[in-house]
Amino acid sequence: MTATDLDLLVSALAEGQVIVDPGRMDGYRWDRAHDPGAGVPLAVVRAESTADVQAAVRFAAERGIPVVPRGAGSGLSGGSSAVDGCIVISTERMRGIEIDPLTRTAVVEPGLFNAEVKAAAAEHGLWYPPDPSSFEFCSIGGNIATNAGGLCCVKYGVTTDYVLGLTVVLADGTAIELGGPRLKDVLRLLPAQQPPATMVATFASLRDASRAILEMTRTMRPSMLEFMDRVAIEAVEDQTRMGLDRTAAAMLVIQSDEPRQYAAEEIERLAGCCRDHGATEVFSTDDPDEGAAFVAARRAAIPALEKVGPLLLEDVGVPLPQLADLVEGIEEIATRNDVVVSVIAHAGDGNTHPLIVTDPTDADLMARAERAYDEIMRLAVALGGTITGEHGVGRLKRPWLADYLGPDVHALNQRIKAALDPMGILNPGAAI
Ligand SMILES: Cc1cc2nc3c(=O)[nH]c(=O)nc-3n(C[C@H](O)[C@H](O)[C@H](O)COP(=O)(O)OP(=O)(O)OC[C@H]3O[C@@H](n4cnc5c(N)ncnc54)[C@H](O)[C@@H]3O)c2cc1C
Repeated sequence: MTATDLDLLVSALAEGQVIVDPGRMDGYRWDRAHDPGAGVPLAVVRAESTADVQAAVRFAAERGIPVVPRGAGSGLSGGSSAVDGCIVISTERMRGIEIDPLTRTAVVEPGLFNAEVKAAAAEHGLWYPPDPSSFEFCSIGGNIATNAGGLCCVKYGVTTDYVLGLTVVLADGTAIELGGPRLKDVLRLLPAQQPPATMVATFASLRDASRAILEMTRTMRPSMLEFMDRVAIEAVEDQTRMGLDRTAAAMLVIQSDEPRQYAAEEIERLAGCCRDHGATEVFSTDDPDEGAAFVAARRAAIPALEKVGPLLLEDVGVPLPQLADLVEGIEEIATRNDVVVSVIAHAGDGNTHPLIVTDPTDADLMARAERAYDEIMRLAVALGGTITGEHGVGRLKRPWLADYLGPDVHALNQRIKAALDPMGILNPGAAI
């Protein structure tokens, strides 16, 4: 690879699209997992079209250079952290969207943020449901690549439930269109959501909260069912001072988006489940702004805990009947390893985010945190669950993947990857 070679890439693209300055490339090296092993790219290409992506991938394929696609870099598994000598292809400039209200579809370029897709759909009285907590700062392309989940996914499903078609650039630079009534990334939209009614319930024990969750999901379909433990409640309360109950072991934030009178009925039934399972306090409101404040509190949990210390972020899921064993098991792991672990969860689908608070200046604490991280994944798998509910394996969870999948499925995954990427240049080191 020579400087002249790199000039060929620069000249194939428009002015300002290729960054080679090390200082400016720093902003493209890490995602939110802050992978200490992130490499230094050869160049960053800020593509503006499919043709630009093709030009960059062709250039890389001809020289065997690794390519790392990058959306907004909000990932929590090191999936978009750079590898040494790679070309990062950033989609930040690919921000077009066209909405067809008649077919209720959106054709979206990958760099648009999830929140911007929602806002554009809302202008036509439509709704794009998937809502990762990071929806204000993650791209739709990143959401599709990770099959992002979120708060309303308990009722409305995850990202791929809304993808009808894609334009895909293959490892040799060929672009293909898959599915969809039209070209490019096509998203399915729904009629606008009803203003939701919200309920908040607190519990004195994790097991009571878990049992209430199981009872609610067994009999009803709330549009949101989120969980925060005491550590998360305290961290959010420290930041917001909104009067959350610091003594509660767990808090659930629950919504119903049924039409108004049915929503009131559903919330009353959900409240009944919580009371039957020992809720210490139940509060409900049909004021959308008041409800939104509780949802914002749940969304604020990760940023609030990041203020306590750098986090090792878990993303383990279990079948719902095992949720109580998982959250109690995590508490036991935290105590035994003498680390702070906070659990927040998209509880309605059994997807938890145990957040381990670390301190990189304390080697002993880091060793204990890493042991807890390992034990939590092993516990989830032993309970019939998964090492990643929604953030993906990326780089962080790769050491646990083979055990989780078993040798046959692991080998099958590798054969599929090799068929699509025979030279191994697409995001090497990250796993699907
Ligand atoms: C506070 C916080 C809360 C979060 N909450 C949630 C949540 O509730 N649910 C959830 O699922 N996730 C959540 N996340 C994780 C993250 O936001 C999601 O994984 C999101 O989908 C990543 O999108 P991104 O644009 O930032 O992608 P990036 O981080 O840039 O990339 C993620 C992966 O996708 C690949 N990629 C990106 N764009 C493309 C493309 N166009 N083509 C091919 N590959 C591509 C990258 O190579 C990488 O492997 C949260 C993160 C934070 C920081």
